[in-house]
Order: sequence, then structure tokens, then C-alpha cells
Amino acid sequence: MTIQSIGVIGAGQMGNGIAHVFAQAGLSVLMQDISEAFAAKGVATIDKNLQRGVDKGKMTSDEKAAVLGRISTTTGLEDLAACDIVIEAATEKWEVKKQIFETLDAVCKPGAILASNTSSISITKLAAITKRPEAFIGMHFMNPVPVMQLIEVIRGLATSEATYTAVMDLSTKLGKTPIACNDFPGFVSNRVLLPMINEAIYALYEGVATVESIDGIMKLGMNHPMGPLTLADFIGLDTCLFILNVLHEGLGDPKYRPCPLLIKYVDAGWLGKKSGRGFYDYAKA
Ligand code: NAD
Repeated sequence: MTIQSIGVIGAGQMGNGIAHVFAQAGLSVLMQDISEAFAAKGVATIDKNLQRGVDKGKMTSDEKAAVLGRISTTTGLEDLAACDIVIEAATEKWEVKKQIFETLDAVCKPGAILASNTSSISITKLAAITKRPEAFIGMHFMNPVPVMQLIEVIRGLATSEATYTAVMDLSTKLGKTPIACNDFPGFVSNRVLLPMINEAIYALYEGVATVESIDGIMKLGMNHPMGPLTLADFIGLDTCLFILNVLHEGLGDPKYRPCPLLIKYVDAGWLGKKSGRGFYDYAKA
């Protein structure tokens, strides 16, 4: 199957990044969000990120205009009827995704692939909402999408070989590196990353070291680009807690229990960079 027209649901942090990379790869993209203002904000972010490339001499203004020209927006899911694949990157809530996939399954043409960029919700369970579970797959892009090389491709229980092959080929066409895994809580990326972040929070909670020392030791000692507490602030502490709860409930192993300090921070509204305070104080910066 040749995939030429792309639908993206959600124009937020991930959705606009996904639209950006597809348009840059020469494909036409229709990006949907619940309001025109959200969609316009997504396009403005793409514009700003492309401009950075122009300023650095990596692309011309004409090339930037051509990329933007391949992106259109809508607020209606029914407008995605003609897309060859629709990638959902809406808010990480089961009810939101359930309603989206019920509608997409009804409006999208037979044979169109439905994909989710979910960080933690079961691909098999999302696929079961639709009458086309064989054409359903996880495409887990990393943040920031235009920069990060990996796409974690998650095969649901019923995902067909044809869907898997089409999505692996499409990901390569984007210039990304797709790596496949099966559908278990947290997939591979978050199953391995979040326990490390949680353990760093436990180290802080138990007074093993300060925030700066924990990050410094992990950054310099393990050659990580940033420390785990900085990374947690970037991801969002509410998101970290949500994913740890998915791992804890889904795998039933106490080793995934979220650190009480993480729960306390989230209760306080200290959600990391986006709220101005997490393990670091961003109001000072
Ligand atoms: P975000 O809050 O930046 O954007 C979500 C967007 O979805 C918003 O623009 C919102 O208006 C829109 N939306 C909400 N309900 C909708 C609906 N019914 N129909 C259409 N659009 C709707 O969130 P994000 O960080 O871009 O995350 C999106 C998805 O990507 C989530 O599933 C998240 O788990 C996943 N993800 C996030 C990251 C990350 O680092 N932020 C990384 C990988 C995957």
C-alpha cells in the first residue's frame, strides 16, 4: 500500500511535530484539533521550528513555504475520510481516544491505517474499539519529533503484517529509525525509562543526594544528555506519575510503585517545566 495522505489528530506538542516531519518528507498532511485556535497554534509552532532551520541555513524560505503549504487543518474528524493513515496524538485520556477512534473507524476509508502515538495506553485495547484491529498500530514518536530519530512501532495483538510493513516503510521514508516491539504496558521506552526516573526520585526522597548531585552523577557518570530529574521535569511529573501507574497496575509488580515524593509534587501542582516548578524552579530561570 502506498501511503500519500496523512491525517494527524491533535495539534499539540506531539501532533504538530508529527505533521511537521511528514510535510517535510513531501507528504500532504491534514491536522485536526478540537478548535481552530488549537490548530492554528500548532501551525504557528511548525512555522517557528522551520524558521529556525532557515536561520541556520539548513533550508531556504521557499522550501519552508512549500512544507507549510502541504499542511492543512480542520476541526472535523469526518474530513479525514480520504487519508491513507491517521495518526492520533490527542490528550492521553482513554475516553478522549475512545471517542476519536470510534469516529475515525466509521469515517475512514476501508484499508486506511489507524495509528496512536499514546505513551502508555494498550494498542490492543485501542484497536478493539475499531472494526479494523488488523489495520491498527502504535507509532510512538519521541519528543521533540523533528529532532528525535526513533519511532517505537508497537504491534497490537491483531496488527497485520501488511500494516506493520507499511508503517515501518513509512517511518523510514520520514528519515526516522523505526524499531518494533510488542504491546505490553509502557512498551520498551517507558518501561525502562520510568523506573530509572522513579528510582532517582526515591534517591532524593531518602536523602541519598541532592537534586543537582543525582542529576550530575547520572549525566556525567552514565553519559546521559540530561539527568533523570531534569528529564522528569521536561516530561511533566503528572505524565511520569500516570505512566508509572500504568506500569504498576498493568504489570502488577510492586517494583513500579510511584515514589510518594512524586505523588506529593503532583498533588502540589509542581508538574515540572510546564508549571514553572518541579525538581527545579523555572521561575528563577
Ligand atoms: P498536548 O497536550 O500538547 O496536545 C494534545 C492536543 O490534543 C491538544 O492540542 C488538544 O486540544 C488535542 N485534543 C484533545 N482532545 C481532542 C479531541 N477529542 N480531538 C482532537 N484533538 C484533541 O499533548 P502531547 O504532549 O502532544 O501528547 C499527545 C499524545 O502523545 C499523548 O497520547 C501522549 O501520551 C503522547 N506522547 C507524548 C510525548 C511527550 O513527550 N509529550 C511523547 C510521546 C508520546
